[in-house]
Amino acid sequence: RPCCHDILRVLLGDVGAGKSSLVLRFVKGQFVEFQESTIGAAFFSQTLAVNDATVKFEIWDTAGQERYHSLAPMYYRGAAAAIIVYDISNQASFERAKKWVQELQAQGNPNMVMALAGNKADLLDARKVAAEASSSFPAIVTRRNVRQWHEAQVYAQENGLFFMETSAKTATNVNDIFYEIAKRLSQV
Ligand code: GDP
Ligand code: MG
Repeated sequence: RPCCHDILRVLLGDVGAGKSSLVLRFVKGQFVEFQESTIGAAFFSQTLAVNDATVKFEIWDTAGQERYHSLAPMYYRGAAAAIIVYDISNQASFERAKKWVQELQAQGNPNMVMALAGNKADLLDARKVAAEASSSFPAIVTRRNVRQWHEAQVYAQENGLFFMETSAKTATNVNDIFYEIAKRLSQV
């Protein structure tokens, strides 16, 4: 059955987390080291085959800066799905992501499919989230710090999001996170 044509979705998250880079990777298959900051918001569209249907994604890439915050509801209000992005090497961006989740839970469409993207997964050695959050564990920052992944995973589960670590740089899980959202939207 054809479904979910023209899915409107929105990317939210701290400035620098990699929202524009994720969209650029998804839409054009490209990555640039010096991605320009988004002003206001940018619009993209991309089609993807999901099962038997062709789904057209219409994507609002928002800026993330506090001074544009009041504009955000314009982009998420009509959205069927949202990807909330943080940078795994930046604890503050994870805290900011949680704030976005709270805002969407309070003001967004109640059926919205929400994904949490822990981006820059290629920066394994810079990992900070959770290593700082639990002092009862020795603060060993391993190459693959499972604890941080676990913290985000638990948070996502408790809040009804699904979680993936992504890398716009290496393309890890980028198509997958969009694909997973499309699949979940076709189930509702
Ligand atoms: P936005 O403000 O959330 O849109 O973030 P940008 O997409 O502008 O990215 C901010 C910076 O992080 C840029 O210099 C990007 O090149 C870099 N960046 C984005 N995604 C990744 C990633 O997956 N890995 C690495 N190493 N850098 C990334
Ligand atoms: Mg941007």
